[in-house]
Amino acid sequence: MSALNVQGIGMTSQRTRDRLIARLGDEGIASFKVLEVMRRAPRHLFMDEALASHAYEDTALPIGHGQTISQPFVVARMTELLLESHPARVLEIGTGSGYQCYVLSQLVEQVFSVERLMPLHQQASRLIRDLGVSNVRFKHTDGGWGWPENGPFDAIMVTAAASSVPQALRDQLSPGGRMVIPVGAGDAQELRVIDHLEPGRFSERTVELVRFVPLVTGAR
Ligand code: SAH
Repeated sequence: MSALNVQGIGMTSQRTRDRLIARLGDEGIASFKVLEVMRRAPRHLFMDEALASHAYEDTALPIGHGQTISQPFVVARMTELLLESHPARVLEIGTGSGYQCYVLSQLVEQVFSVERLMPLHQQASRLIRDLGVSNVRFKHTDGGWGWPENGPFDAIMVTAAASSVPQALRDQLSPGGRMVIPVGAGDAQELRVIDHLEPGRFSERTVELVRFVPLVTGAR
């Protein structure tokens, strides 16, 4: 690709990125911090080049292996919900493309991100390191079991739909911590916010209907 083309993509990206951010604001994303991080985040790098021209549309896109990079609105919404609890250490289940992970890395102290598919784990961790990010630790594992060696976490974000909330994730959520997780099967799942109010006591509410790929786990 010539230098001219590269520049052309860059300019288009910034304009379409700004338009996306304006739209997310119109649709109810209120966190200025989240919007500013997403305005700078190069989403086009987290997908196949052939799809890059769609990177700043508000839609999920395929990333191979039957998986998807989440819709920007959903990334923004889940991130702003998580930040309300002011977490420092965050566990993400389902690294996927790495886009959500990158957004989190710009907003919290330390991110732990796990992915069960080796090629996605490798690709995303390499890309995020290449972007100069040093506050993320990655692991290739079944995230239904969490990452017990590093828990408990101030917040947990699950980016695949669970049939029910895995007990291991509740166990690894600090008191005062928050988990955001899509729950359910089929085309529409409930995006739930679970707060660990005090040791062993949780509150749970549904905030949106969302559509995620399934959490494939041996955990209950
Ligand atoms: N956060 C991602 C979303 C990717 S889609 C992004 O921004 O692109 C969900 C991801 O969860 C997929 O990559 C899928 O392989 C992964 N996944 C599904 N079940 C999992 C499990 N039990 N443990 C870890 N990752 C899982």
